[in-house]
Formats: sequence, C-alpha cells, structure tokens
Amino acid sequence: MKRLLIACIFALLLVAVFRREAASQSSLTQEIAPGVWYRAAEPDKNIIANTGWVEFRDYVLVIDANFPWGARAILEDLRKTTSKPIRAVFDTHYHGDHAFGNSLFVDAGAVIVCSEDCLAESRAKNPKAWGASAELKNYRLEHPQISFREQMAFDDGAHRVELRLMGPGHTRGDAVAYLPKEKILFTGDLCVNRPGNNISDPDADPDGWIRALDKMLQLDVAILIPGHGVQGTKDAIHGQRAYLAGLISEVRKGIGRGASADQLEKEITLTQYKPWGLDDNRNKTAIRAVYAKLNRSR
Ligand SMILES: [Zn+2]
Repeated sequence: MKRLLIACIFALLLVAVFRREAASQSSLTQEIAPGVWYRAAEPDKNIIANTGWVEFRDYVLVIDANFPWGARAILEDLRKTTSKPIRAVFDTHYHGDHAFGNSLFVDAGAVIVCSEDCLAESRAKNPKAWGASAELKNYRLEHPQISFREQMAFDDGAHRVELRLMGPGHTRGDAVAYLPKEKILFTGDLCVNRPGNNISDPDADPDGWIRALDKMLQLDVAILIPGHGVQGTKDAIHGQRAYLAGLISEVRKGIGRGASADQLEKEITLTQYKPWGLDDNRNKTAIRAVYAKLNRSR
C-alpha cells in the first residue's frame, strides 16, 4: 500500500514536471510568421532581453545575441525549430544583454553584424564592462565582424530582413530589424513594452530617441517585438514616444523656469503612460537623467 502511494506521488510529480516543461517551451518560443521566431525573455534566469530568428532557405539569421547564458538557452530552443546553420547574428545595439552572447554564436559558425556606430561603441566600451563582471569570466568577448552604415538586407527571395540604423537614441548605433513582407519589426531597446526604459543610460540621446521613434513610425508594422517586455503592435511605438516626449518636454519646461532636478522629480507625473510610466522609481531616475543631459547641452 505504502509502495503504491509512493509510486502514485512519483507519477504525479513527473506529470507536473512535464507539464511545466511543455508550458515553458510553448510560452517562450513562438512562430510569429512562417519561419520567423520570437523567444521571450526569462528574467528569473537573467535572460532579460527578447530574441528572434528567421529561417531563410539555406541558413538562419538571429536577432540579438543576449547574454552568454541566454545565448546557450536560445541555441537550444532554436535547434528545436530548425537544423539549418546559423550564418549571422544581428546585434541591435552593443549592450551586454543583447550582445555579450556573441561568442557562442561565433563558435556555432555565425558572423556578428551591427551598425558601424554600434561596432565602434562595442570596441570602445565593452572591454571595460566585460572586465567588470564576474559572471562573464568563463566566456569570451566577441565584437561584431561585419558592420553597415545606414542599412543592409538579408534577402533570399523568400524572406527579406532589413537592418536599419535608427540611432542615436537609446545608444548611438541602435538599429532595428524589419521584415517588410510580414510587417514585423524587432526594435531592440528603442522600444520596450513594459514599465520603465533605459533613458538614464549614459549613451542615451533624448531628442535623438524621439527622432528614431518617428522614423520607426514610418514603417508599416503589424507585429512588434520589443527589446524588453511583451509582443505588441505599432501602438507600442506610439506609447513609447508619448512617454519619452512627455518626460522630455516636462523636464525642458522645468529647466526653463529654473527648477532643480529634486523639484522636478517630485512634480512630474508620468503614470498616465501605460505601461511605460508605471514604475515610479524608474520614472525618477529617468527625470534626473534627462535633466542632467538637457542641462548639459544648453
Ligand atoms: Zn536591453
């Protein structure tokens, strides 16, 4: 009787484990159009950015390399969708959560592609960021090997992916991946779809970011995969722009009448921009950062 009970409990546990596994696979990786995949972030595993890949006739193009541990998880999930070789990885920008996994893809046979400005930023800034992290000790920093000025395209007749420079915005070299046929846009961190954003990054250019979003609004977009947060539509670009434009204009007005950053942090309300303005602490950091940037450039 006791043995039977133990066997039953064991069987139930197994079912629970399998269920969880099946659920996590299907919820993380999604085919958003034939041959176009999106893998959602796993923040609890410090895989914080979203990733995509496109299966061409003979090869695969990956969009954003993630952290090294993220790259490993992505490679595993990617292999469940296709056995074609990964020829190229596009880094939307040089930040670690999008580019530090480059070496794992290079070892899998890929070249890393990004904008010229992104490459320059990677070379200038990533060695220091890499050296400062204990988590990266067992991995290798790999800069992109191919770069483009304004635009380049992967096109085999069946699929077309355009890599387009949009920055400066979140960084100097931000670029996006656009699939005109499927109307899919992978935005990197120029657009997120969750509370907060990274305008406090030292590289961020507030007015440039608005111009970048305006350029992105000219594209015909049905499905939007943000750098962070949930899948969206073109509305996410409108929402992101409204939040940033509201933030920048309030700070600029405040500076104009001689207000301090402390005052503005208390006065400016951004919670009406959902979901971007829902994190009060991040709003405060953003207000201070924009204040410092605009005050400096006056
Ligand atoms: Zn990011």
